[in-house]
Amino acid sequence: MDISHLLNSLNDAQRQAVTASLGQQLVLAGAGSGKTRVLVHRIAWLVEVEKASPWSILSVTFTNKAAYEMRGRIEQMLGISPQGMWVGTFHGLAHRLLRAHWREAGLAEQFQILDSDDQLRLVKRVIRELALDENQWAPKQAQWWINGQKDEGLRPQHIQTAGDLFLTTMVRIYTAYEQACARAGAVDFAELLLRSLELWRDNQTLREQYQARFKHMLVDEFQDTNAVQYAWLRHLAGKNPSLMVVGDDDQSIYGWRGARIENIQQFQTDYTNAEMIRLEQNYRSTATILKAANALIDNNAGRLGKQLWTDGNEGEPIALYAGFNEQDEARFIVERIEQAVRDGMSRSEIAILYRSNAQSRVLEEALLRSGVPYRIYGGQRFFERAEIKNAMAYLRLIGNRGDDGALERIINLPTRGIGDKTVEALRQHAREQDVSMWQAACDLLDNKGLPGRAANAVQGFMVLIEELAERAEGVPLYSKAQIAIEHSGLLRFHEQEKGEKAQARVENLEELVSAARGFENDMAEEDEEGDVLLAFLAHASLEAGETQADRFEDSVQLMTLHSAKGLEFPLVFMAGVEEGLFPHKMSLEDPGRLEEERRLAYVGITRAMQQLVITWAETRRLYGSETFNKLSRFVREVPVELIQEVRLGNQVSRPFGPGKTGLFAADASESTGFALGQRVMHSLFGEGVVLNYEGQGAQARIQVNFDDEGSKWLMVAYAKLEPL
Ligand code: ATP
Ligand code: MG
Repeated sequence: MDISHLLNSLNDAQRQAVTASLGQQLVLAGAGSGKTRVLVHRIAWLVEVEKASPWSILSVTFTNKAAYEMRGRIEQMLGISPQGMWVGTFHGLAHRLLRAHWREAGLAEQFQILDSDDQLRLVKRVIRELALDENQWAPKQAQWWINGQKDEGLRPQHIQTAGDLFLTTMVRIYTAYEQACARAGAVDFAELLLRSLELWRDNQTLREQYQARFKHMLVDEFQDTNAVQYAWLRHLAGKNPSLMVVGDDDQSIYGWRGARIENIQQFQTDYTNAEMIRLEQNYRSTATILKAANALIDNNAGRLGKQLWTDGNEGEPIALYAGFNEQDEARFIVERIEQAVRDGMSRSEIAILYRSNAQSRVLEEALLRSGVPYRIYGGQRFFERAEIKNAMAYLRLIGNRGDDGALERIINLPTRGIGDKTVEALRQHAREQDVSMWQAACDLLDNKGLPGRAANAVQGFMVLIEELAERAEGVPLYSKAQIAIEHSGLLRFHEQEKGEKAQARVENLEELVSAARGFENDMAEEDEEGDVLLAFLAHASLEAGETQADRFEDSVQLMTLHSAKGLEFPLVFMAGVEEGLFPHKMSLEDPGRLEEERRLAYVGITRAMQQLVITWAETRRLYGSETFNKLSRFVREVPVELIQEVRLGNQVSRPFGPGKTGLFAADASESTGFALGQRVMHSLFGEGVVLNYEGQGAQARIQVNFDDEGSKWLMVAYAKLEPL
């Protein structure tokens, strides 16, 4: 048998891992050293050499995008689609398991996934029902606490409160929240994992069935598994499994969500025969980028310690750009992207990474203005937009009348005269009788428990839902979506609203129909079985973002640093690299969290293959307030000779090195005659400071913050501004 294609493109250490005899392996290595490549080759090795059935392989990774890419790479290696192989995220796989065994797991057949928004709403309701003061017991904090317990595998009855008021109250909320979830047939993200762990643990028959099936297990990004995930693996693995885990302690970035670097040591304790393999050559990045990453991470204490080298070329210096404000930063990034595309790079080879989701809006706007196609992962994602969630709520209710969250969302949307009082009456009845709100509505209509007008309105709503359900019966998914947006009145509702936002909502709703169409095609291709509507709803909660833009259009990739894990791009922008934003201000006080932020910076830097561009903004408007910023310490931890500063035409000196004027410098004065930050005088508005500009020549516009009149956009050609 010719196995050269499995081994040719590997170095010795990688080959050792791929060809290891069946047993346990721990591959511990730095970024870009080929861990994921080893995993993929190992899978191909198992299939081709060990003659493992694809059906017997389970491979877990961290993000949906990474899982999607892994599937692609496996297909490419094997030359066939790996039918029956389970490749996915922990959450995705747990979901799949629970769908198949909802009865054993004690769930409703049509159980729905609560995303974090839905969950917060439910927690809020529970707190209100318990008559607790929301100011003292903040819903967000309770949500966080509950998820933390679940990530540790703890149910309310496991928690020792020892009379502590905080703990006692949290346990009360947790308990009531669990009941509310059960009533609604709803499962949150953490519950997916915990529930499936309990299924393995308590149901011997099922456990043995799956142990027998998954003879080979592989885990990527092992450093970010939490307690429940690790226990999940342990239960599934049995005594002497064929189990390969790969990871990098320097890339553990989910400590705040319960991930445990300690699982790496735990693995060695639990599997004393495990073979430990280290990879030391980096194949991804230029020497410059790698040196920067190594220098940065060296500032963390208590690392497992790794050597990472490359025989690649030095490459370009890291470019550093100080934006005057976030608009200027965004425009600089877009200009450099346009430049790179003109130079022949494709847009999908370019990524913009940022610390906080909220940063994406300004970047998106700049990209939109310049007509640069982009896709965004995470954040204000397609499936998280209000209008889409409304439409999805109709679909959810069609699928499951017991879905209280969905019902509450749309019972009066579009408005149909069902007021808060009526909704509260339904809620109360539901609570007292321990039934769903839909059932409560049936009851109250039957025994005339609602005033006449409200009763009519509720009746009207229920008839509408039944009608929709009837129409949606047996038609393809995209028709269901169409029915949900059109016959519900949602589309008309938004069409009648005014303004650009409303227009975008209408477009998004229309996009939902194409998303549904695309999803159904994919599902047919992947040979998935089951209820396509349910699968689509789960997809909306789990894989948000994947369908929002045309998958085949060449587009720039936008994502948070967290979701960039495992990925690589020839050109990477890291935006907003300033103290308070990155490292995030919440982590400044706590050395442990600061180190986690540094690991996040390490992840960011090591995504870049050829060129890394770091940007920051001296002033930034974010979450509605303005901050004055300092360059991030993480940039200062990179040796200065690796960095080249890119500057605006005539700006003041930088805190950093003697920098040169970069090739790509965006020069405001060229297009407007004024520099950003310059003071100017206008005959009508008085004195002000130049904030921003766009366009060129006769089209050039300039934004000035006038001392008395506030900020205004003006056409440069007509404004007759005087420099001061
Ligand atoms: P991360 O820690 O970021 O997840 P990783 O260790 O998983 O990184 P990979 O993504 O597997 O690294 O590999 C990084 C890059 O190096 C990929 O483009 C991969 O194809 C390439 N690569 C890995 N090993 C080799 C090799 N032996 N020869 C050539 N290229 C390689
Ligand atoms: Mg990887």
